[in-house]
Amino acid sequence: MIRLYDTTLRDGEQREGVSLTVEDKLNIARRLDALGVAYIEGGFPVSNPKDAAFFARSAELKLKHAQLVAFGLACKKGAVAAKDTGLNTLASCSAPIIALLGKAWDIQVEQVLLTDRDENLRMVEESVRFLVSKGKQVFLDAEHFFDGYLSDAAYALAVLEAAIAGGAAAVVLCETNGGALPSDVFDITLAVAQTLRERGHGDVEIGIHTHDDSGCAVANSLEAVRAGATQVQGTINGYGERVGNANLLTVLANLELKMGYEVVGRDRLRLLTSTSQFVAETLNITPDPHQPYVGQSAFAHKGGLHVSAHDRLLHAYEHVDPVSVGNFAHIVVSELAGKVSLRTKASEFGITLPTQPHALDSLLDMLKQREAKGYSYEVADASLALLLRAQLGEPVKCFNLESFRVIADKREDGKVMTEATIKIHVGDERFVATGEGNGPVNALDVALRLAIRRFYPQIDELHLTDYKVRVIDESTGTSAVTRVLIETSDGHETWGTVGVSENIIEASWDALVDAVTYGLLRWNKDES
Ligand SMILES: [Zn+2]
Repeated sequence: MIRLYDTTLRDGEQREGVSLTVEDKLNIARRLDALGVAYIEGGFPVSNPKDAAFFARSAELKLKHAQLVAFGLACKKGAVAAKDTGLNTLASCSAPIIALLGKAWDIQVEQVLLTDRDENLRMVEESVRFLVSKGKQVFLDAEHFFDGYLSDAAYALAVLEAAIAGGAAAVVLCETNGGALPSDVFDITLAVAQTLRERGHGDVEIGIHTHDDSGCAVANSLEAVRAGATQVQGTINGYGERVGNANLLTVLANLELKMGYEVVGRDRLRLLTSTSQFVAETLNITPDPHQPYVGQSAFAHKGGLHVSAHDRLLHAYEHVDPVSVGNFAHIVVSELAGKVSLRTKASEFGITLPTQPHALDSLLDMLKQREAKGYSYEVADASLALLLRAQLGEPVKCFNLESFRVIADKREDGKVMTEATIKIHVGDERFVATGEGNGPVNALDVALRLAIRRFYPQIDELHLTDYKVRVIDESTGTSAVTRVLIETSDGHETWGTVGVSENIIEASWDALVDAVTYGLLRWNKDES
């Protein structure tokens, strides 16, 4: 039994330029739970208020499968664990499991921690014991374990044993610098597993945590599993600082499809591709089309030979069946896979799609055309729902725009003010409203609210909670377009919408209209 441990929400967020809101973190955690990971590391509640807020709201997640983990540090040198503020914060946080960082490299203990080896052992053991006494399960993250083992194997092992003496349920061998090679990771993990067994600690789980600086993070993880590790840590799409962490999706697919392990099961494995896309979009990172298993080009075939071979013998040029990881070859199977996933998505919104094949074909064609223009519905589920309803002939408009105008004013004192004027029709009435804001989207939002509030007082319940912009460089030869993703909440539910245009204000407006329309229509449905 191999258990996956996802650290996208902590280590993954260390990637340059990435910042997640609490809502983003909750959404990603739900996807990880659905995928079947065993552990979700939510963050570092002691030092990061946003992570603390995530744990405070974790009950909303209603996790079915995964357990939440909070990350933290051992007590300070010379300090009593029970009096350490950080450890007390961890003890009272909602996560049942704590991943506690302890140093396993003698040189780091002496030169970075500036303390002696015995004091480091005491800090680890006492900190683990304290958290265990508070009812937590504790995993030791043995930092720099592989460098430590090569420097002084006995000491690196002593750090693991200190944690075990304190009651740790798992010891995680961290390849913190990311430079190790698979053969070393295999040898050292095997030696650790043997030593722990010989010393009567065979029941303690061994974990592996790798970074990809040598390009071997996935290989290192798999080698550690071969050597006896049963917990694998990593991040979705391999996001992480420097060149990233082990890509948990690649690790998972290899374990399931190549190495014969049942990790999440074949049904959940089909969520691999959609999970990858969802997390990429939420982090506002363009998905890598060439990523193993889940990339858009991972099973794409070019050239006449492959295409005709594909027709005759489906798997001749594929190392696995793309459907097994929820991806599809771009020829033949794509139609089928597209229909299945579209039906699934539609039913989540209570939309029944027509059963006639040609009707479904035209819906898919329309979606494909929009995706080619830069639209993405991975996180913009509300825009997709509106689009489908519109295609099925349902009314999806709350108002009609006559025109809007946005003026940005930069003044002498350096302040920039934006003013938006909207002319809009609701039913037979025409409304003109002007709003001011700190930017064009904010100003348009204010003006739109003023314009339609009399008809739709429930607009006051809706709040824009996130706004993301990405310039999509079109390889098709046309000019670059801007994609805007907006997240909206009514305090109970959140939904995402998308707008695409060469003009950022127009893209923002489209996403805003979808956001408001979805919120208002949904509301009416609830009332009826
Ligand atoms: Zn790490």
